[in-house]
Amino acid sequence: MTAPRLEVDLGKIYHNALELVNRLRKRGISVSGVTKAMLGSPDLAKALLAAGVSGLADSRIENIQTMRHAAPKAPMTLIRTPMISQVALVVESADISLNSELDIISELSKAAGAAERMHEIILMVELGDLREGIMPPDLEEVVRQTLRFPHITLKGIGTNLACRCGVVPDELNMGRLSALADEIEATFGPILDVVSGGNSANLEWALSSASVGRINNLRLGEAILLGREPLHRQPIEGLYIDAITLVAEVIEAKIKPSQPWGEIGETAFGVVTPAIDSGSICQAILAVGQMDTDSSGLTPPEGIHILGSSSDHLVVDCGKSLPSIGSEMAFGVNYSALIRAMASPLVAKKFRPLHIFPILEE
Ligand SMILES: *Cc1c(COP(=O)(O)O)cnc(C)c1O
Repeated sequence: MTAPRLEVDLGKIYHNALELVNRLRKRGISVSGVTKAMLGSPDLAKALLAAGVSGLADSRIENIQTMRHAAPKAPMTLIRTPMISQVALVVESADISLNSELDIISELSKAAGAAERMHEIILMVELGDLREGIMPPDLEEVVRQTLRFPHITLKGIGTNLACRCGVVPDELNMGRLSALADEIEATFGPILDVVSGGNSANLEWALSSASVGRINNLRLGEAILLGREPLHRQPIEGLYIDAITLVAEVIEAKIKPSQPWGEIGETAFGVVTPAIDSGSICQAILAVGQMDTDSSGLTPPEGIHILGSSSDHLVVDCGKSLPSIGSEMAFGVNYSALIRAMASPLVAKKFRPLHIFPILEE
């Protein structure tokens, strides 16, 4: 079979999504299924919708266009602020976009007007992680301006934490978002349908805090795909952590010394810390490398240790015996390894189908 390849078990992803949708529903929180790590795969989109997500969300308009064909009616949110150069595409394919710049909202309004439609937006608020978002003291004025655009509907507010600086969602910052929602509505009336609290890093807070306040939506990618929360990368109870694996083929297997010989300089990827001398080892090379994935984000099968990698080679210690040439090994992937492999045209993608036949409205 074609290698290297990502094997994606849609049944497991469906299970993960269903579990999270059900757990969060009890807290009054809907789930937007985030598809960016899988380039807006239509198969993934269908599995997420079958599991009951309230809509699909992706950071790239191109991925949303791909999904549109598979799910013409599903609400789709662009979760990175639109580029002005793409506003026409955005109003055509996405129902909602996350925004933090009035200049862009203004262009979205013009584009929506030209297309004779309305475009919904969620205003993002900065709550400490220092990526996107309006500074809280400026929010009221931005809301006032936003409400004036003729082809824009203000759908809600949101925030995003834990992505750039690792700021943990907690009672304090989530309480601040709820309070901002209340303040906005005290001034402008009940206009906020959605208060979107964040991403997979919000799960622990959302499922354990005494009250979730005004937060009624989360945008979940990693937790659904990989079954882990991103703050400590611990498995989430009851979810599969092996829904996606990267399979590679053995192209060399030899007994070799564990120590290099000759004078040592830098490698293709910088300085390498010398390995411990463990005599001779069973070394194998897999035909996959930094071009295809983030090899530091791979989890090898039991008994195998990753020794190093370069653009096209992954070198492993196989323990007691050498694998046969042409055999395959399956590795677990973290988020970084997954997105690199998904983005590579030289990594095949193989979906194990979803064996339920949900009634999906066309
Ligand atoms: C990527 C992203 C998400 C999803 O993050 P996960 O950690 O994969 O759940 C949510 N919101 C925004 C704005 C994002 O960019």
